[in-house]
Amino acid sequence: MPATDASLMTPPSRTMNFNAGPAALPLAVLEACRDELVDFGNTGMSIMEHSHRGAAYEAVHNDAIARLRSLMAIPDGTGADGYDILFMQGGASQQFAQVAMNLLSPGASAGYIISGVWGEKAVAEARAVALHAEASVRVACTTASSTPGGAKYVRVPGADEVSLAPSDAYLHLTTNETIDGVQYATAPGAVFPSFGAVPVVADMSSDIAWRPIDVRQFGLIYAGAQKNLGPSGVTVVIIRRDLVEAGRTDIPVIFQYRTASRNTSLYNTPPTFSIYLMRQVLAWIGNLGGLDAVEARNRAKSGAIYRVIDRFPEFYRCPVAVESRSMMNIVFRLPTPALEEAFVATAEAHGMVGLWGHRSVGGIRASLYNAVEPAWVDALAQLMHDTATRHA
Ligand SMILES: *Cc1c(COP(=O)(O)O)cnc(C)c1O
Repeated sequence: MPATDASLMTPPSRTMNFNAGPAALPLAVLEACRDELVDFGNTGMSIMEHSHRGAAYEAVHNDAIARLRSLMAIPDGTGADGYDILFMQGGASQQFAQVAMNLLSPGASAGYIISGVWGEKAVAEARAVALHAEASVRVACTTASSTPGGAKYVRVPGADEVSLAPSDAYLHLTTNETIDGVQYATAPGAVFPSFGAVPVVADMSSDIAWRPIDVRQFGLIYAGAQKNLGPSGVTVVIIRRDLVEAGRTDIPVIFQYRTASRNTSLYNTPPTFSIYLMRQVLAWIGNLGGLDAVEARNRAKSGAIYRVIDRFPEFYRCPVAVESRSMMNIVFRLPTPALEEAFVATAEAHGMVGLWGHRSVGGIRASLYNAVEPAWVDALAQLMHDTATRHA
């Protein structure tokens, strides 16, 4: 099992990984994985070589589900009082289409809140599905700015800016916009906005399990694992049980949520190794003290970076409105592209990687997911401080 304090074991050779995804994994998880890679639980073979129908893998699979349920306090009742936890493939990008395939029937509509680049992609895919479903999809709110030259997305909307329609089957939003560094409900104790009775579908790919949330505020949550929960290859879907049952039955069975639901995500071969590793990450989060402890750790990390940005406003510029600043992906600019080049080069020389912003927006981005060590963030904050002081 992963050790409790990975930072004590971090050798100096470990790269400080600020990648946006795939991203850092806890060292303790990688070491536990290495130790049992060729012989899982004295079975004489790797977990990767086990049948997904066998007892050894099934125990891992069920334990991953149980750990996620317990960690996120996911209700287990029936109908609208309970949620299924599904392990899918195809990434969050497949969910952009699959959500609409399941939940849009003829005559129905869906609203999309766009607060960043991933929301744009989600609504585009839903539109393609709606075309064939005789349903409609609309932008219920966008915070896109039309000011040329500046950042396009710098805030999340308030609930009063969102237009709902009686025919809406769901309202889709992105809780954390990974590229733009824009996130909902980041203030300590902030609750997620309420949108009435319409089921909220949330893309939580880059901030699932960053802190405790009330799952009952959502109809469906999906997240690719490769940012906050583990390696790529598995996508978590947490879906209210009445929505599973209400889903369309005239689409291919492989795309129906009920297929995964009725078969505990073992209808066909799941990504067994990814699920195995995600289970290790969930255990590691449990050892850290659960999501309350993870939240404190994450707030300390992001606070250290934002403090330096705010201390040197002439040198660092974060375009995002303070209330919408992401705790997971911190985007900022330096005064010139040349200074940004030099900063990233110096960071690399100090063993820090993954600091370039997404190519569509430029600038710097530090991704501070759960597995990013506080000591790495302190080193980055120190470098930022020293860089700004040198140019003051
Ligand atoms: C990374 C990301 C995606 C895309 O995930 P894939 O698993 O690569 O399809 C979608 N939405 C958000 C918010 C993301 O951060």
